[in-house]
Amino acid sequence: MYSVRRWSVRHAGAMERFYQAFERAVVALDPLWRRIGYERLEKPVAAFEKVVKGFLFDCQMCGQCALSSTGMSCSMNCPKSLRNGPCGGVRANGNCEVKPDMRCVWVEAFEGSQRMREGQATIRVVQIAVDRRLEGRSSWLKVARDKAVLKTEAAR
Ligand code: SF4
Repeated sequence: MYSVRRWSVRHAGAMERFYQAFERAVVALDPLWRRIGYERLEKPVAAFEKVVKGFLFDCQMCGQCALSSTGMSCSMNCPKSLRNGPCGGVRANGNCEVKPDMRCVWVEAFEGSQRMREGQATIRVVQIAVDRRLEGRSSWLKVARDKAVLKTEAAR
């Protein structure tokens, strides 16, 4: 929902703090996820993630969430799906050239990033191209799996 999406960006600092705590918990539960089976969890977790993030961010379920690097403004709502900043068509009032009634998601992203503790640094990180094979999958589970692997490797 557009108004909720904008609310989330206005509260990007609180969203960041909540997400960091949530992510720590999800990564810590990796042994449980493994026991149940990541693939078995995929469908129900992705469905739940879609409801929660769809409401808060108009999430499009790209499966590789970049919200922490985009000021809590989902860049997949850009009509051109730009993942690394705005195109040259942002209107003088900060709205999108394709959807004149919508704020450019990257104008929102910059504003949101300024409200975050790490957002000002992370918004400068170049995002790799979207991997369409991950569409519809849970990015929460992806983060849990990827970060747990990194943690295990670092402990060796
Ligand atoms: S970046 Fe991807 S996973 Fe994150 S909110 Fe946007 S569409 Fe959803």
